Amino acid sequence: MLKSTGQPDLAIEAVGLTKTYAASKKMPAKQALKGIDLAIPRGSVFGLLGPNGAGKSTFINILAGLVNKTSGTVNIWGVNADKQPRESRAALGVVPQEINMDPFFTPREILELMAGFYGVPSSERRTDEILDALGLGDKKHAYVRQLSGGMKRRLMVAKALVHTPPILILDEPTAGVDVELRRSLWEYVRKLNAAGTTIVLTTHYLEEAQEMCDTIAIINHGAVAACEPTPNLLKRLNYKTLVVRPDPAVTVIPAALRDLDPVLRKDGQIAITYRTGEHSVEKLIVRLRGANIDIGDLATEEPDLEDVFVALTSG
Ligand code: ADP
Ligand code: MG
Repeated sequence: MLKSTGQPDLAIEAVGLTKTYAASKKMPAKQALKGIDLAIPRGSVFGLLGPNGAGKSTFINILAGLVNKTSGTVNIWGVNADKQPRESRAALGVVPQEINMDPFFTPREILELMAGFYGVPSSERRTDEILDALGLGDKKHAYVRQLSGGMKRRLMVAKALVHTPPILILDEPTAGVDVELRRSLWEYVRKLNAAGTTIVLTTHYLEEAQEMCDTIAIINHGAVAACEPTPNLLKRLNYKTLVVRPDPAVTVIPAALRDLDPVLRKDGQIAITYRTGEHSVEKLIVRLRGANIDIGDLATEEPDLEDVFVALTSG
C-alpha cells in the first residue's frame, strides 16, 4: 500500500513464497523455499541470515526476476511483481552473489550501459559520482579484466545503483572480500541507508548481520526460523563461554565447580558457558581460583549462528 507521500511502509513483502527447482543434469530437484512470509520495512537495514543452502539467494533471485517462483506473492515498493514486473523491479538494485561482468568493457561503459538499460536520461546519470563514491574513479577507463576482485565487487555495487533505486539488495557482499574493502563497503551502505535507501543483505555470518542490520530474519532449510529486531534476537543469546587454559594443566575438573557445568576440552582448556545476566567473567575467575585452578590464559566465546539455531529450535 502506498502512503500519501508515494512511499510504501513496506519496501518488500513476500507472502507464502515457495520455490521448487526441477531436477537438471547438474542438480537433483529441490524445494528451496517452503513458504516464506517476510515484510521488510522501508528504511531498514534488513539481514537475511542463514547457512549455505538455506535459500537466501533463491529468495533474492526471485525478487530480482532471475528465478521464477513456484507460488506465492511478491510486492516490491508497493507494486505486485507479477502484475507489474518492470515497475516493481525498477525499485531494486541487486548485487548478486556471483560476479558477472563483461571483461572487455570499462567501469564507465558498464555503468552507462546499465543506465541506458534502465532508461535513465543522460542529464540524470550519476556515472562519475557513483564511481567516485565507490573508490573506482581512477579506474573508470580500465578494462574490467584488469580490476582486482575487490574492485569488481565494488563495481557490481556501482552497477546496481545507476537508477538510484530506493532498495539495494546485496547477496553475500563480503564473501571473499578483504577486511579493508569490507569496512569501506559497510560505510558506504550505511551512508546510503542514512540517505533513505532500504538495504537488504544476506550473510551467513551472525557477526556481520548483528553489526549491520536493524532487523534480522533467520532462514534455514527454506523457511523463516525467526524475524525480529536485532536487539530482541540477541537477547535470546544472552550467554557467553569462558575458556581458560589452566596452568599447570588439570586432568579432572574440581567437584567444587560442578554447579557451573564446566567442560574439559580435549586440548585441556576448561569451558564454562554462562548467562551474561547471572555471572560475570570476574566472578567465574574467583570461583576457578577458589578451586585451586591457576589460569594460564583465558578468552570468551560469543554465540555463533549454530548456537542461534539451537537456541531457536530448543524453544
Ligand atoms: P543460499 O543462498 O542460502 O546458500 P540457495 O538459494 O543458493 O541458498 O540454495 C538453496 C537450495 O537450493 C540449495 O540446496 C541449493 O543446492 C538448491 N539450488 C539452488 N539453485 C538450484 C538450481 N538451479 N537447481 C537445483 N537446486 C538448486
Ligand atoms: Mg547464496
